[in-house]
Amino acid sequence: MTASLLSGKPLAKLIQQKAQTEAKALAEEGSCPTLAVVVATEDSSTHWYVRSIERAAENAGIGCRVIDVGQDATEQVLISVLKDLSAEPSVNGIILQTPLPPGVKTQELVQYIAPEKDIDGANPLSLGLLAVGERAFAPATARAVVEMLDHFEIPVAGRNVVVVGRSTVVGKPLSLLLLGKDATTTVCHSKSGPLGKYTKDADIVVVAAGRTGLLTGTDVSEHSVVIDVGTNVLSDGSLAGDVDEASVRPVAAALTPVPGGVGSVTTALLLLHTSEAAREQSRAARTPVLTP
Ligand code: NAP
Repeated sequence: MTASLLSGKPLAKLIQQKAQTEAKALAEEGSCPTLAVVVATEDSSTHWYVRSIERAAENAGIGCRVIDVGQDATEQVLISVLKDLSAEPSVNGIILQTPLPPGVKTQELVQYIAPEKDIDGANPLSLGLLAVGERAFAPATARAVVEMLDHFEIPVAGRNVVVVGRSTVVGKPLSLLLLGKDATTTVCHSKSGPLGKYTKDADIVVVAAGRTGLLTGTDVSEHSVVIDVGTNVLSDGSLAGDVDEASVRPVAAALTPVPGGVGSVTTALLLLHTSEAAREQSRAARTPVLTP
């Protein structure tokens, strides 16, 4: 048996079209949804990723402003940029790209992203709202995994799902989204020990650890659906996931490729979230404030 490859590209296209339709409708009403991306690094893979967001935004008719504050920016500079963007009416969505300059902590900064513009679910308030099942933007990668499962009609309710990785941007929010969909969710991390003990009996395994070849064929079984979130840049510049495709593909039922899997859906969702945020903000601006 060979696992079928679950490409993210057709779904990414559908989501991008949805974002584009909403952006067009907003443009006809006189406003252009705009995403601001704050960068404070010279890391080449970050710049490559930001350029891919810019291109996708342009194709969808969404404005994209890149604010590059340089790799020596201080925490105060970054806070001031995030506060300004949060208050700027022409900006609808804000992303803070990592890595940040040495000594600057992501958690110190993301609280300055206005929740209504937090289209990548970075502000702890967004994670808190997700935890209690309230409406908030989920981190785009976490939502991308759920959208992939929906798109390929892979049921999660009552299924055993193992998430490898417990970061605030992927593993934790994803486990909350899956719990909200009635999955029985196990979260593994670097202290969990051999993964096969948890993953072998799982119906769905999501790997988001940033470790090339972490999940191998001996960790899965013939009914496993494997979602590879990892994006690791190899020494030759190519991209690899966290799954050892050569050993997993002959065993598992289905597998997402890297590149061309979760990543393409994530970028499309950032655009959809931006147009959704712009729509909400336009509604709020039109709602009269009643004074008692
Ligand atoms: P991260 O913050 O470094 O977190 C990695 C997580 O993996 C941690 O919870 C860590 O455990 C766990 N881990 C590390 N080694 C492990 C091991 N040997 N066994 C089990 N768990 C292990 O990374 P991240 O930001 O979540 O990103 C994870 C991967 O997803 C990276 O490759 C990243 O590039 C990729 N990513 C992709 C997208 C996309 O759109 N496709 C978006 C975001 C991230 P501890 O907590 O114990 O340290």
